[in-house]
Amino acid sequence: MTKQRICIVGDGLSGLMTAVVLAKVPGIEVNLIAKKGTNNVDKRTTAISDTNYKFVNQNITSLGQKLFWPSKKIELFYETAKEKINFLNLHEANSNLMYVFENDKVKNVLLKEISKNKIKLIRKDLNNLDELKKNDLIILCIGGQSKIYNNITKIRSIKKDYKEIAITGYVKHNLKTLNTSQFFLKEGPLAILPFSKNYFSFVWSVKKYFFENNSKKITTLVKNKILEILKNKQEITISNIQSYPISLSIRRQYHQKNTLILGEGLHTIHPVAGQGFNLVLRDIKKLKEIVKYYAGLGISIKTSYALNDFYNSRKPENTIMSLGVDATHSFFKQNKYLDPFKEIIVKNIKNNETLKKFSKIISNQGLSL
Ligand SMILES: Cc1cc2nc3c(=O)[nH]c(=O)nc-3n(C[C@H](O)[C@H](O)[C@H](O)COP(=O)(O)OP(=O)(O)OC[C@H]3O[C@@H](n4cnc5c(N)ncnc54)[C@H](O)[C@@H]3O)c2cc1C
Repeated sequence: MTKQRICIVGDGLSGLMTAVVLAKVPGIEVNLIAKKGTNNVDKRTTAISDTNYKFVNQNITSLGQKLFWPSKKIELFYETAKEKINFLNLHEANSNLMYVFENDKVKNVLLKEISKNKIKLIRKDLNNLDELKKNDLIILCIGGQSKIYNNITKIRSIKKDYKEIAITGYVKHNLKTLNTSQFFLKEGPLAILPFSKNYFSFVWSVKKYFFENNSKKITTLVKNKILEILKNKQEITISNIQSYPISLSIRRQYHQKNTLILGEGLHTIHPVAGQGFNLVLRDIKKLKEIVKYYAGLGISIKTSYALNDFYNSRKPENTIMSLGVDATHSFFKQNKYLDPFKEIIVKNIKNNETLKKFSKIISNQGLSL
């Protein structure tokens, strides 16, 4: 039987992961098109849920546990004029709530897996989709912004420019204990994500004007803020500071004929809840199931309902979760009229066991309950 050929474009986390996962499906041959020299520059970390970690581990045998730093506890704080209220603590005694990995390290392992699995890697900047006509399925994992999407979908996406910048970086420290935490500060949410014994990464989303006004002293500003929130007097060292503009984009059309958009191109969301790649992983899991089903029956993916099936099964969760993250961001945004009420609400959250349970389930499994 001749193999069906899938061409994936883009070597971000979405493209690399999709290539490795789909190459494992019997009857499928995968090619990957990627720009030259784009790896090793992504000095960020990504937090994924326990369920997604299991999916990644099942599909990439050579990943190794050392690349994933587990967390059993997540703490959330809300800053008022007087204090930082610890309003939600999620804790698991016998399992992990999430894992954090360094993007560049995992990308390198995925690239090795790609050469091991004999996936053909073509280094070029794709400009014209016509070149890919001979493939049974084309998957575009080319980030949130590409003009190529205009050839696929004319339906307008749900879009919003937050006019915010996510400042990211690594911190070396000597603290004995440090939990994964999120601080909803007056300047914007700041996440602390431990990824090894003496390192954590941070993501601090601030207003664009705040970032621009402070761009020359950003390292000092971040350092002082982190020392303040951790109530730490010890020395810390900050490195790998990067910045990312933040926007929301929820695609309403996922595919055109046999070309599918995946990854950030399908849903770009605010990093406040660390859900972007978690959604992508659930998309990849579903896509694998669908491709396996059609390929197993010997049905051509090109002429089948495979991409309709994918759209119908993933669109509800992707839309609800993306809008849910947007609502979370709006709730915690500084607002002098609403802030006194928010203080009362967050104080009540602390004792609400049902909400705690619900938050844990949603962040672990999404809406695939
Ligand atoms: C600050 C920040 C923190 C985040 N933290 C988390 C987190 O903790 N947890 C989580 O789940 N998610 C998180 N996310 C989201 C997560 O980073 C992304 O979902 C994930 O990296 C997947 O991105 P991607 O591969 O879809 O797109 P990208 O990383 O943008 O990759 C696109 C790739 O396509 C290539 N490309 C583009 N055009 C072409 C072309 N024409 N030809 C060939 N190649 C092309 C580019 O070179 C690039 O390599 C975060 C996002 C941000 C901004």
